[in-house]
Formats: sequence, structure tokens, C-alpha cells
Amino acid sequence: MLSNLFPKKRAYLDWAAAAPVAPAAQRAYERALADFGNPSSPHTEGRAAKKILEDARTKIARELSMKADDVIFTSGATEANNIAILGHTHALMAQGRKPASIHVLYLPSAHASITETMRALKHLGVRTEALTITDGAIDIEALTASLKPETALVSTEYVCGETGTIWNTREVKQALPGTVLLHVDATQAPFEESLERTRLGADLLVLDAQKIGGVRGLGILAASRSTRLSALSYGGGQERALRSGTQLHASASAFATALIEARAGRAAFKARAAAARAELIRQISSAISSVQIQQSKNQTQRILNLSLIGRDTDYLVALLDEAGFAVSTKSACETDSLAGSRAVLSITGDEERAKSTLRISWGPATSTEELRRFAPALIRAVAFLDGRPA
Ligand code: PLP
Repeated sequence: MLSNLFPKKRAYLDWAAAAPVAPAAQRAYERALADFGNPSSPHTEGRAAKKILEDARTKIARELSMKADDVIFTSGATEANNIAILGHTHALMAQGRKPASIHVLYLPSAHASITETMRALKHLGVRTEALTITDGAIDIEALTASLKPETALVSTEYVCGETGTIWNTREVKQALPGTVLLHVDATQAPFEESLERTRLGADLLVLDAQKIGGVRGLGILAASRSTRLSALSYGGGQERALRSGTQLHASASAFATALIEARAGRAAFKARAAAARAELIRQISSAISSVQIQQSKNQTQRILNLSLIGRDTDYLVALLDEAGFAVSTKSACETDSLAGSRAVLSITGDEERAKSTLRISWGPATSTEELRRFAPALIRAVAFLDGRPA
């Protein structure tokens, strides 16, 4: 088998699914655990935990050019997307709007936590409609044409977790009347893109700890207090009553640390990632036939999505795993779907491309040597799949 053709050193190239915890974030987490009190308790132990939580909130808000009060801690991006989309539509319904008089536009390539929430809205009777994607960007002309007096929300991502496409959210915001809110899931953005609110135009902004070197189990929704949102679950009223439950002060501290590190290393990492991506593309394109690169006009450098037309890329992922490389075919949340990559299908409209995807993604702690080893391993694994001697 292939295992004896490769050294057994592992290279983790699936950062878009989960990033390793950054050492500084882990230290912040461990330090904060010493203050074990409940942040809602008024005694000394509780106040110590509360201070850690609020310091983290302030630091995160600063990174987003927002107010500390705008930051709502959630259990991750999935919950934050649900609170943004369902929370806003429920708030409108609580004010007497009938579901059929609410129109919501969304990005069809987006993560399941957005598209499945759209399906739930549709069941409620809300009018949902997919945005048109043209040449790897949200089609602003088509968007303008689909706006109705009832349009309440446009839901998008900043960066596609499968292809690395950077979406034109700022242009979307500029095309919207002031009454329409813009939701931006920026989960996959922080290693390379600035999160300043003015740059994104987001009224509802979502981030996730596990994608940026924080500790899994925490995300944020950033939205000003004037944004109409209803709670989807009930309890002690923490997080502006939008996400009740005891807050994770240690995870919040790790999240803030990871976010600050991501920003500090952003420019240097992006340059390194661009060089590594170009070199990978050069090696892969020159040695593998029938390969197509998912390349958008605006592209995140640390995600390389390929279509290896006609090949079984699930098997390829298993071969590469055995050879010491962790990569994926598509979003980890949709690995069980047999339909291919929904994101690639939405962006390219090509079923063959969508059925044969391979995603390689990395981060600041990935060494050039790990990426350098990957291309020859992929070339050998594809040759094996194609029935050619390696
Ligand atoms: N949004 C995007 C863009 C993602 O890439 C992911 C995870 O892959 C999520 C949301 C969901 O994150 P979580 O499973 O941590 O809630």
C-alpha cells in the first residue's frame, strides 16, 4: 500500500475544519481556569471570573471596532448564525410582521448553519431567496433586482470555508437600503482579513473560536443593542438575554488572545500563504491531469480547493491520511453528504467539479516544509488512484 511510500511524519492541513489551539491562547485559558467562580456571582471568586470575561469582551470588541456591549458570547458560529437569522426574524414577528411579509436573501454556498436555518425560516412561512453568484462574487445587480419592500435581512459569509472565496460584503451593504440588515459570518476570515466593521458593513457579525486557535465551544455574535433580536432559548438572562447560561470566561480569554495574535500576524502570514499556494498550484497543475483549481477574484490564500475530475476524493483523503496528511473533501459538517460540495456547485455550477473536491487548508503554525512535502504526496496518491505506477 501507499503507507510504505511515505515517511510517517504527519502534516495537519485541515485548519478550515479546526485550527490547533494557539499556545498563547492555551496559556490564557489555563490561567483563567484558576478563577473558577461563576461570572454572575457577586462574591470575590465570581467577580474575578467576570473581570476575565469582560476584559476578553473589550479586547474582542476593539479588534472589530465595536463596543464591548455589542459582543454576545455563544457556543460557536452555528449558534451565533441561528441567533442572528432566527433571532431577527422572530423579533420582527413579535412586532406583528406576518412570516409571509418577511423576505430574506442568503448566500447558497454558505455553511449549513446558514442554509439549514434558511430552511427552518421557510417552514415558518418566511420568504427566503438565494443570492445570485456571478464570477465568484455576489451579483449586485441581481441583488438590487431582488430587493423588495419586505426584505429584512441579507445573510452572507466573509470567506467561504470550502473554497476560500472572499465575498464582496461591503458592496452588498452599499446596495442595501438602511432598513435591511446585513449578516456576515466571518468565521473563516481572521487569519488573513481585517475584521473592522466598516470594512465589512456587517450589522450582525459572527466569529468562532475553534477556527482561529481558540478553544472549541465558543463563538460570538456582534450586533449593536439597537439591532432587533429575540432570544431563541431561555434562562438566567446572560448575554443580553440572547444566550442564557453560565458564561465561559476561560474560553473567552483564549478567544481574545487568539484573535489578537491572528491580527498581529496577519500581513506576514498572508504573504507566506500566497507564496505557498502559488507553489502548490504550480506543482499540482504540472503533474496531475484533469485538475481544476477553485480560484476566485478575491481569494483567501490559506485555502486551496481543487477538483480532481473523475476521481474518488473521499478515497484520496483516506490515502493521504495514511500517508500522514490531514486534508478534507469539503466542510466537515457535510462530509456525510454524497452530493458533493454544495459550495463548489453554487459557485461554479459544475457538478463534476463539485463531486471531486479536495480542500487543503493551513494556518500560521504550518511550516513551509509541511506544505512542500504535500504536493509530491498528492501527486503520488493521484497516480495510485489513476492506476499508474508512483
Ligand atoms: N460558519 C462557517 C463559515 C464555518 O466554516 C463553520 C465551521 O466549519 C461554521 C460556521 C460552524 O462552526 P461551529 O461548528 O463551530 O459552530
